[in-house]
Amino acid sequence: MERIPALAISQVVKSFRAHQALKGVDVRVNEGGIFGLLGPNGAGKTTLIRMLTGITAPDAGSISFFGTPLTRAHIAQIGYLPEERGLYKSMRVGEQALYFAQLRGMQRQEAEKRLRVWFEKLEVEGWWNREVADLSKGMAQKVQFIIAVLHEPRLLILDEPFSGFDPINAQRVRDAVIELKEKQGTTVLLSTHDMGSVEELCDEVALLNRGEVILDGPVHALREQARDGRFTLRFRGTIMEFTVAIGASAELIQVLHSESTVGEHEVMLRLSPEGDIASWLHWISGEVKVVACTPWQPSMRDVFIETVENRESNSMPS
Ligand code: ATP
Repeated sequence: MERIPALAISQVVKSFRAHQALKGVDVRVNEGGIFGLLGPNGAGKTTLIRMLTGITAPDAGSISFFGTPLTRAHIAQIGYLPEERGLYKSMRVGEQALYFAQLRGMQRQEAEKRLRVWFEKLEVEGWWNREVADLSKGMAQKVQFIIAVLHEPRLLILDEPFSGFDPINAQRVRDAVIELKEKQGTTVLLSTHDMGSVEELCDEVALLNRGEVILDGPVHALREQARDGRFTLRFRGTIMEFTVAIGASAELIQVLHSESTVGEHEVMLRLSPEGDIASWLHWISGEVKVVACTPWQPSMRDVFIETVENRESNSMPS
């Protein structure tokens, strides 16, 4: 039997005056996973997230939350770290965190207990009685992260949660997200431009471009699919001799690294469809000194750039 998804976004449309920001978006987020919502600036990610958190409503289409139509009543089961951060500057840190926890229906005692644990985990415990205005950007962000997760939401929505952190604190927050998924079964919707975090954290992604989903699926499958038969070859010799030698047997896609005219070079290649890599390597070894040959493993950054650029060039008027 098919499992009920945490979120089923179906044919969602949203316009701002003449501009259609979402053009019939379908996204399915499985329960208990970390789902990456990706896309270039202006693709429509924040517009979609705002609908999930009840800030705006779709013009058309539907959104269901664990099998029932999303309503305001579900907001209590959602944790949200918005892209625009905001805490009341004149309040003390602990007092403010307690205030937000109580707004979400938590008892003061329980909220304080959980807050102490989180403050220690993210190393802001010494800041309980300090004013928010004195916090650095990263520390304020950690406090907002804690406020978003404290009521143990079923769905946690994080909009650019790692921007503004140094690498050590970014890793602490990434580890906290992994722990929420693994220990509490929290479903996470993560919107970020940081492709390294997507590779480390996300099970599945959807790539939005100009208000449309142009790619979606499990991260490992998308990276594998994008490989498209490409491999890298390191060799000694000259690029010119190499290009003449390979002729039409392989397509030279890119020179990745070139030491000097007669030094070591690294190129990305794709064999012609009938080519066999083992016999081709045996043959090319007679032409140049082969140092290494590895299947090319595209990163999520490669997948993102290639998919968006292909879509943009295909939609250009000829
Ligand atoms: P970024 O990565 O830069 O945060 P995004 O994917 O979150 O971008 P959105 O903020 O959702 O993009 O914007 C999508 C489109 O909708 C943009 O063209 C934006 O200008 C437009 N838009 C968003 N909100 C409004 C609004 N309130 N009024 C008018 N246009 C809007």
